[in-house]
Amino acid sequence: MTTPRLRVDVDRERCIGSGMCALTAPEVFDQDLDDGLVLLLDAEPPAPRRTAARTAAGACPAGAITLREHTSDDEDPHRPV
Ligand code: SF4
Repeated sequence: MTTPRLRVDVDRERCIGSGMCALTAPEVFDQDLDDGLVLLLDAEPPAPRRTAARTAAGACPAGAITLREHTSDDEDPHRPV
């Protein structure tokens, strides 16, 4: 059995720079010092960071964070979580 992996994507076009993600999951997200928009630090966070990443995605006021769970042998890695 293959352990599912979590893939994180951010849409800087949608981001409004609230900083919630960087506060909630600072190992996964940061804010750009120049424009305040999200920076993705870890696109495939390890298990200990996934809960914070999920919380951050749920708290994003702009819906700019997308999470997808996949396994390395998935045909469709874009299956929504
Ligand atoms: S929580 Fe959402 S809107 Fe706020 S900085 Fe992060 S991605 Fe951007």
